[in-house]
Amino acid sequence: MKKIIIFLGPPGSGKGTQAKKIAKKFDFGHISTGDLLRHLANDPHADPTDKQKLIEMKSGKLVSDDLIYKLAFREIEKYLSAGKGVVLDGAIRSVAQAKKYQEFFISKNLTDEVAVEIALSDEEAFNRLTKRRVCAGCGEIIPYLPSTRSLTSCPKCGGELKVRKDDEPAVIKQRIVDQGNAALAPILKYYENLGMLKKVDGAAPIDEVEEKITHALK
Ligand code: AMP
Repeated sequence: MKKIIIFLGPPGSGKGTQAKKIAKKFDFGHISTGDLLRHLANDPHADPTDKQKLIEMKSGKLVSDDLIYKLAFREIEKYLSAGKGVVLDGAIRSVAQAKKYQEFFISKNLTDEVAVEIALSDEEAFNRLTKRRVCAGCGEIIPYLPSTRSLTSCPKCGGELKVRKDDEPAVIKQRIVDQGNAALAPILKYYENLGMLKKVDGAAPIDEVEEKITHALK
C-alpha cells in the first residue's frame, strides 16, 4: 500500500467524501487543504497575514501557494512522523503545486505515492455543487442524493444545513474555471508521465466509487 494517496478531481467530484472514507479504511491521515483554510478563517488567533490571503477563496479562486505549502506540509509531516500514511484531498491544484509537493516528498525520502483521478464532467460538477449543503455545526458536506436530499438537519450532529459560502452559482462558475477539467488536465498529465495515475469514474454511486478506488490502490 502506498503511503501517500493524492486525490484529484473537479470540485464536486466527491474527492472529499472518498478521501475521508479511504483515510478511515486504512487508518491514514486525511488532509483537506479546503478544510485547513476554513479552519484558519475561523481561528481568532491565526496570523493576520495568513488570513488576508484567504480573500481569493471567497471568490472561488485559488489561494497563494505559499499558504498551501505552509498548512499542508506541516500536517503531512505530523502524520508521517507518527508512522501513518496520508490522503491528500484537493491539496494539489496546479502543476506548480504538484512539482513543489514532489520536491517536498523527495526531500523526506518519500517516493511511495499514487494519484487517483475521480473523473466527472464540469456540467455534472456544477449541478452537484449548486445542490449540495454543509452542516453549520460540524462542517459535514451533505451531497445531493436521493437518500439525502430531503434531510433538514445534519445526520451526524443534528446541526442546521446551509449552502457553503463558495457554493453560490457565481462562485461555483469561477471554481470550475480555476479548478475544473481544463485546469486539471496538465496536472493529470504530470502524474501520468510519472506513472502514478489511476482513474475512477466519479459519476457512479458513492459505494461503487469507493470500491473501485480501493481496488485501484491494491
Ligand atoms: P475545497 O474545500 O477543497 O473545495 O476548497 C475550497 C477552496 O479553498 C478552493 O475553492 C480554493 O479557493 C481554496 N483551496 C483549497 N485547496 C487549495 C490549493 N491546493 N491551492 C489553492 N487553493 C486551494
